[in-house]
Formats: sequence, structure tokens, C-alpha cells
Amino acid sequence: MKPKNAQQKQIMALSKRLNPITEKQVTWAYNHCFEHIAYRTKSTLTCGDCGHTWKSEATLADTLCGCTCPHCGAELKVNDTRKRTFKQCYYFCVVTTCKGFQVVRIVMIKSTSKKGSAATYFYKEVAQRWITPDGEIITVARLRGMGFYADLWCFDSDMEIRPHHDIYNIISDCEHYPRVRVLPIFKRNGFKGSFHNASPVKFLQSLLTDSKTETLLKAGQYAILPHFVHYPHRMGSVWNAVKICIRNGYIIKDATMWCDYIDLLKHFDKDTQNAKYVCPADLKAEHDKLVAMRNRQRERQNRERERRREIERQESERKKLERMQENERLYAEMKSKFFDLVFSDGVLRIQVLQSVQEFYEEGKTMHHCVFTNDYYLKPDSLVFSARIGEKRIETIEVSLETLQIVQSRGECNQDTQYHKQIINLVRKNIGLVQQRMSA
Ligand SMILES: [Zn+2]
Repeated sequence: MKPKNAQQKQIMALSKRLNPITEKQVTWAYNHCFEHIAYRTKSTLTCGDCGHTWKSEATLADTLCGCTCPHCGAELKVNDTRKRTFKQCYYFCVVTTCKGFQVVRIVMIKSTSKKGSAATYFYKEVAQRWITPDGEIITVARLRGMGFYADLWCFDSDMEIRPHHDIYNIISDCEHYPRVRVLPIFKRNGFKGSFHNASPVKFLQSLLTDSKTETLLKAGQYAILPHFVHYPHRMGSVWNAVKICIRNGYIIKDATMWCDYIDLLKHFDKDTQNAKYVCPADLKAEHDKLVAMRNRQRERQNRERERRREIERQESERKKLERMQENERLYAEMKSKFFDLVFSDGVLRIQVLQSVQEFYEEGKTMHHCVFTNDYYLKPDSLVFSARIGEKRIETIEVSLETLQIVQSRGECNQDTQYHKQIINLVRKNIGLVQQRMSA
């Protein structure tokens, strides 16, 4: 991207004049950032740094704290691994200044260790975060490949002004070379050399743009400081409580636990403006007390929810039963005058279904919808079951309006070999139905 304004042009010109990253800085990073390992098999250890292999009589317990390579003197972490290569990739930064700008230079370092040979190293400066005196960040970086993988850099691309991308913040949150140079304004705002576990870029920007950071720094509230640097919006809700701590000279030592504790105080409507609550002498004890209280409350709420659900379930059962009773009553009212009708030819026996319960059993046995479609509620429809002995053969619907057979169906709505015989038997006796209607 071409520099768009005078400031960006100035930064591009200054960027080109920065000294290369020094060998001393890179050596520090290799020693400090990488994990240095020894490959262990049954009785031998191999140094991942120099490739030296030696016999080891040490037991597992002896090497839990690591070992020292007898050849190169590296302190090594013992890895029981069959893997023969070990690749690592990290970022570190150099915090420096340049003509009134604060600059954080981000360097990628890689190591590849192959068992039995000396590890190889690689480094390249991939980005610079230029912080302007009013707290704006301008990023000069190499080109990145597509995707979100942090290590996809085009190493031979030029360092240029690049539009913002979250990846720059992610890689900037890294270890920094211990020798740090900052603009005088940062010292005035309370910076004494430590970033207190915050990302140096975010920390410095915050120290220019957010007075809370300066206040926390000067009050020695180092544990909670990085939370404000990284999540200023989220932390806004506890700022007043933090001010109470500062006023009372109470130093927050475990920031995460303290924030959880404040959330719990708020949950229980305790006064978070009261030092008695927000500055507990024994934070862990008070925190645990509230957590236990919250858990008991949750259990109570769960039990209450279960109880309500059970009441609802019973209520719905009761309604269902009521509805069924009401349906039985309606059905009997409409159709009881047909209940004693029986047509028989000596083989088949055809009878009106006597209750809603019978509709249910008929539908279930015959796998059709005589029950589910509420045939028992249809005033102009009369439903018979044709049986041989106890066996259900077909279900017959007769229209009380036309006295015609609307349908007669066997299991799964299929006709049976008795279909015609059933139709004839019903037709022959339809006069009896008519008689009952006019009775
Ligand atoms: Zn070695």
C-alpha cells in the first residue's frame, strides 16, 4: 500500500533507516523463546540443540526437571518421544523509538531440530507497529499469504504500510527483548520498564489514550492492569470498584478471581462501592463463599424449575383425561342409541364401536386413523367393527346423512377377502340404523 499522507510517508522513510535486528537480540530470542529439548529413548538422550547423544543412567524422576547437555551445556527439557523432528515458531519484539515515534518491531523466529544434528534457526522481521504521539498505530509489514495462519509471510516482499488486520495484534502479543527504549511521555505516564504481562503495543497505546492505564500503573495495580489494556470495554464495569481499591490502598493480586468476585457481589446486589466488600482481606475465602452461595442458588432454581415442569406435566395429563372423559360423554350422547345393533351372518359379527376407548383400540390394532382423526366426534358418521370371533377384520364408516357406506377398511387400510361380504351385510341391515335414528 502506498503511503497516503505526510505522516505515513515520514514513517516509511524512517522505517527504511532503522538498523537491522541485531545478532544479540536474535540470540537472546533463540535462548529465551524456544523450548530446548532432549529426545529420550530407552537409555540415551540426544540434545535437540547440538545433536550430541549420550548414555543416561538417570531415572525418569531424575529428569523431570530436565537435564544439561554435556557437549553444549544447554539446559534441556526431556521429551519421551519417537518423533525425530521438532519445529517451533514464535514471535518476539524489540521496543524502540525513532524520531518521536514509539516503534515495536515484530520478529518471527523458527527453529527446526532434527534428532542427531544441530538445530537450524531462521528469523525475519515481519512487522513494525509505529505508535504516533496521539496513540494511533500504523503498521508497516511484509505481505501475508491468504488465510489466518500467523506464519504465512512472503519473506521476500517489501516492508510497506499495510491496512489493519487482527493478525498484527495477535503477533504483537509476544515476548519482548529486555532492553526497551520508550519516548519520554511514557516515563511521565508512569512506565518503569515492565509491560506487566500485557502486549507491549497495546500497553503503550493504552498508556497514551486511556487515563485508567496510567492510574493503575501509578497505583501499582499491576495484576489487573493487563485486563484493562486488553479488554477496556469489558472492564469498564468494574472501574468504580477498582477506584475504591486504589483509594483504600488495596492491591488486587489475583485479577481474574477478583473480577469474578465483583461479578458475584453484583449478582447478589451487594454494594460494590463499599470497601468492606470490594477489598476483602482474604479474597479467596470471600470468593469461594459467594461461589458456593451462587451454586446453592442455582440448585434451588433448578429444583424450582423441575417442580414447575412437574406441575405443568400433571396439569396437562389432567386436561387430557378431562378431554377424554368429555369425548366419551359426547360420543355416548350422540351414538348410544346404536350400541345394541349387531349384524351377523353366522361368520362375521358387525357392531358399532361402543366407546372412544374402543376407537383407540381399533385404530391401534388395525393401524389406521379411525382414532387419531377423531371419527368419534363426527355427528353424521357411525363406525362399526367387523370381527370374526375376537379378531378385527374391517372397520366400517356409514354416513348417517345418506345411509351409505363411506368406507370399509382392513388392517393398514387394505381390503380383506371379507370386504364384499361385509358391505353386503351392512347394506342388508341399514334399515335397522334408520329405525334407530327416527326412534
Ligand atoms: Zn547440546
